[in-house]
Amino acid sequence: MYGIFSRPGEAARAGFRVGNGVIDLAAALGDEVFRSGSLNAFMALGREAWQEAYRRIRALDVARIPLAEVRTHLPFEVADYVDFYASLEHASNLGRMFRPEEEPLKPNWRHLPVGYHGRAGTVVVSGTPIRRPYGQRLVDGVPEYLPTAKLDLEAELGFVVGVGTEPGQPPGPFEDHVFGVTLVNDWSARDIQAWEYVPLGPFLGKSFATSISAWITPLEALEHLRVPGRAQDPEPPGYLRRHAHWGLDLRLRVEVNGETVSRPPYGGMYWTPDQMLAHMTANGATLRTGDLFASGTVSGPGDPGSLIEITWNGAKPLPNGQTFLNDGDTVTISAGPALGEVTGTII
Ligand code: CA
Repeated sequence: MYGIFSRPGEAARAGFRVGNGVIDLAAALGDEVFRSGSLNAFMALGREAWQEAYRRIRALDVARIPLAEVRTHLPFEVADYVDFYASLEHASNLGRMFRPEEEPLKPNWRHLPVGYHGRAGTVVVSGTPIRRPYGQRLVDGVPEYLPTAKLDLEAELGFVVGVGTEPGQPPGPFEDHVFGVTLVNDWSARDIQAWEYVPLGPFLGKSFATSISAWITPLEALEHLRVPGRAQDPEPPGYLRRHAHWGLDLRLRVEVNGETVSRPPYGGMYWTPDQMLAHMTANGATLRTGDLFASGTVSGPGDPGSLIEITWNGAKPLPNGQTFLNDGDTVTISAGPALGEVTGTII
């Protein structure tokens, strides 16, 4: 997994994490591109360069710096950030809670991967403390400006664009553009979100912070986990047709203060990331290096990726009586050895 690290008194530079050790890529390989304090320049080089670097890294036999001795940094400069809504279970659960009088899924949901533009400037690296946001929320039906009382997590996968497109240039295959995968926690203030989201979607209820792992797993390292995407009905339009298997057989683990509260399966997601990439460029919108698009909350039957679903909007507390996040709580999302982890503590 690629990341940016530093040690006291040294400049931040690129590293490759193997287990709990970090290879200093600039020292081990000598490439100037790895001396940068972000992965953007390397990510912009394209697939052949990524494959070549990964081959050379795997052939290395060098000492690794213990992970505990390094400080990690935001691994890339985030260009645009888009969050999708690709889990059938998550979209259905939220629909039932927020719009109980309607069909849980809006009529568009099975025809296109629904998404919204998030705030790139507040994407933070794992370990960054998360300040409880203020916002408008209803108190006895009256909007008041207060700290959120329903701070939640959303366990997601994020896809990082390395190679962009020029105006008028449709994107090529998914693997020509997407450099790798990271874990995402899309922190959400449910009371602020519930009051503000109609009709234009999430805004301040989510834009205060989005955490990502310090480590990006290159697509090559996920080959063994690739599976067909979930069957889709109706068949999506031609530009959303799948040409390769971009489902990933991964199970996320969501921990609150060290207790596992859910194990959401990524493999059951309705929309796959190749379809998301095709959709976000289907109108001619260009891609650029550092674009981040996230899957949306990963929820499976019985394994939701958010507290609002696990506790059914607070009606069914966790065994310890908890519903939403308290100050001092630490949330950690992981997904086995192929990916890192994303953690954050509420302050
Ligand atoms: Ca989300």
